[in-house]
Amino acid sequence: MGKLFSIFGNPVSHSRSPLMHNSVFKNLNYNACYARTLLQDGTKLKETFFALKLNGANVTVPHKEHAYEACDEVRGFAKKIGVVNTLINEKGKLIGYNTDADGFMYAINEFKNIRNILVLGAGGTAKALVQKFLEEGLHVSILNRSKERLAYFETLDVQCYTWNSFITEKYDLVVNTTSAGLKDENFPAPKKTIETILDNTRYVADAIYGKSTPFLQLAKEKQLTCKDGSDMLLGQGVLANELFCNFELDKKAIKKEMQKSFLY
Ligand code: NDP
Repeated sequence: MGKLFSIFGNPVSHSRSPLMHNSVFKNLNYNACYARTLLQDGTKLKETFFALKLNGANVTVPHKEHAYEACDEVRGFAKKIGVVNTLINEKGKLIGYNTDADGFMYAINEFKNIRNILVLGAGGTAKALVQKFLEEGLHVSILNRSKERLAYFETLDVQCYTWNSFITEKYDLVVNTTSAGLKDENFPAPKKTIETILDNTRYVADAIYGKSTPFLQLAKEKQLTCKDGSDMLLGQGVLANELFCNFELDKKAIKKEMQKSFLY
């Protein structure tokens, strides 16, 4: 019998995950199908997963913390950050992983000699990326609009700033993990601050995909080497697909088929 997977989120209609994974299953002849499930109540994640008889799933905004709570066992990096984006049904037990941070590292593989990073935003994505950067021995600063969300980062070896206290350094990479620019035309910080930041970095990445945010647009105008969130999405998807298929498919082939799905 074929395997069944799904993405859980709210909203979920915009998600590219079904296209990405189905492209792999279909073109690499893997007997599986990937659907999408709108989940309003995150506490119902586990019972919905098993009611749908799923073999695995991805979890997106706003249920990644619920997914962590729902697991019988959490493995690897997800354990460290308390955030799960990939679920596997292992003999009736729910096993949780996080492929977002490794997906991002995979995405910036071509950026060379990264040592000093500025992260814009202090939400769930920032949490995952900052912990991964620290694990890799990188120097990290973080700039966020509100002070409240910085509390988590103040316990780590991270330089924390709000818009008012910010002092610019020289960076190798600046990453936007805020949702500024997703559904509006805002910058992740006042435009003047962003101008200064962009004048002091070599590389720029934005977690947002599917549109060029004002932040990314400005970075392009300054002729910096940039990346939107598509490669991060691709990276986390490739790693999730390997877990779904129990590492039976070739990683390069998975990536190729997923990339193709971006053209649909
Ligand atoms: P969260 O809701 O956890 O965090 C949002 C962050 O954005 C907060 O730090 C918030 O600051 C900041 N923010 C929101 N609006 C503004 C604004 N107008 N100006 C400045 N800062 C703002 O979100 P996530 O971390 O889950 O997701 C963040 C983004 O990353 C989303 O756009 C999401 O689509 C994208 N993403 C992309 C992925 C990919 O694969 N490409 C994977 C995961 C996420 P404050 O504390 O002040 O409210």
